[in-house]
Amino acid sequence: MNIKYDLGIVGGGPAGYTAALHARKRGLSVVLFEKEQLGGVCLNKGCIPTKTILRSAELYEQLLSSENIGLSFSGAKVDFTKVIERKNQVTSKLRKGLELTLKNSGTIIINAEAKVLDKNTISANGETYTFEKIIVATGSEPGTFKGMEFDHKNILCSDDVLELTELPKSIVIVGSGAIGIEWARIFSAFQVDVTIIELAENLLPVADIEVSKRIERIFKTKKINIYKSVAVESIDYNGICNVHLNNGETIRAEKVLVAVGRKVPEYKKFDGVTYIGDVCKEIQLAHFASKQAIEIIDGIKFDKSLVPSVVYGEPEIAWVGKREQDLEPESYKKSMLLVSALGKSHCDNSTDGFIKVLSKDNKIIGAHIVSKEASALIQQVLIAMQNNITADKLKEVCFAHPTYSEGIFEALFGL
Ligand SMILES: Cc1cc2nc3c(=O)[nH]c(=O)nc-3n(C[C@H](O)[C@H](O)[C@H](O)COP(=O)(O)OP(=O)(O)OC[C@H]3O[C@@H](n4cnc5c(N)ncnc54)[C@H](O)[C@@H]3O)c2cc1C
Repeated sequence: MNIKYDLGIVGGGPAGYTAALHARKRGLSVVLFEKEQLGGVCLNKGCIPTKTILRSAELYEQLLSSENIGLSFSGAKVDFTKVIERKNQVTSKLRKGLELTLKNSGTIIINAEAKVLDKNTISANGETYTFEKIIVATGSEPGTFKGMEFDHKNILCSDDVLELTELPKSIVIVGSGAIGIEWARIFSAFQVDVTIIELAENLLPVADIEVSKRIERIFKTKKINIYKSVAVESIDYNGICNVHLNNGETIRAEKVLVAVGRKVPEYKKFDGVTYIGDVCKEIQLAHFASKQAIEIIDGIKFDKSLVPSVVYGEPEIAWVGKREQDLEPESYKKSMLLVSALGKSHCDNSTDGFIKVLSKDNKIIGAHIVSKEASALIQQVLIAMQNNITADKLKEVCFAHPTYSEGIFEALFGL
């Protein structure tokens, strides 16, 4: 007899596994299909592995320049094999933890490629499964453009770069979105010669204009070569990568990382099936994916205009809400506090950056932060924004000293 389950989920990334865990909490019978590894891109090829490598890279960079804080580490060197081993250990540990959590929750896991046949049926491993409801959370994959095809050895996508066994001497990074920026930081901290090529007028074009400009300044101090408003026409390899630009220049490097966005494989959409996460091509972030899952399963709505963005590295970059370039001049108030005004930044030797808050009629409409701990700071502003806590009301909160949070408090007085 063919059992009818409550919920079938295709894809075991943040969207899929969150949906599974929350549905089990509500007592639904759940089958989760995953063709590769549980945890999806986030855990295996995205958020977690990059941040793990970034930690090694930045610690190394700090060791090299630690004399100014009274420490000396002569002979600091990189063992890249160990860096990658640690990355693999971290992802494997988290994957095993997730697998156990899913199993303990009573989710049935099928390790196979699944195909949705109709709004109630999925086939996998030659078997057919029937469901009351189906969620598709099949994610996205690295995208590229004509002339920039990956060869997966020298012309790399974001998956390939995680599999490098040694550091290149030089790398060209095409695209300065979050992935491009984070890898530029990683390679530059490992003392690799980095060149970034960006089609738009500014680095990190999705960010507020002043954030983009500050990142450019920081990258220049790190001797990262930057090309803006330039398109890559083609890339070829003949013992070295040649990146041909539309301004007639050719840039040569040992490797190229093409990070120009993510694509969603073609698939047939069925009425009555729910699609969540990267596959929707809306906001391709892990926390957006998991919030969508919770919205679907638990009915907890969230404001899609208040999704925070974070780009990791020293200093971190985070923002939420409106960007200055999207607002009518004179229609808003702005306050910008330099991180160097905060005692804590001097204690930490991390004084570069700012906390910028935008408001309209006392309502906070945007925050843009370049600072150590920006990933945590942005949540404080976001909680205020989401709950309509005005700038004046937020001034009533007592912020601890010495912290970076004080910067939010101080910035409010400039509005
Ligand atoms: C380098 C990099 C860094 C990133 N850093 C961050 C970050 O710091 N913060 C952040 O929020 N986001 C980050 N992201 C984005 C984040 O990884 C994605 O937004 C998130 O993983 C999307 O989750 P998802 O569940 O929609 O899809 P995915 O994580 O892509 O999972 C989809 C899963 O579905 C499986 N699947 C696909 N088709 C089938 C099928 N037919 N049958 C069975 N299984 C199938 C896949 O194998 C995959 O495991 C990063 C991405 C990359 C590439």
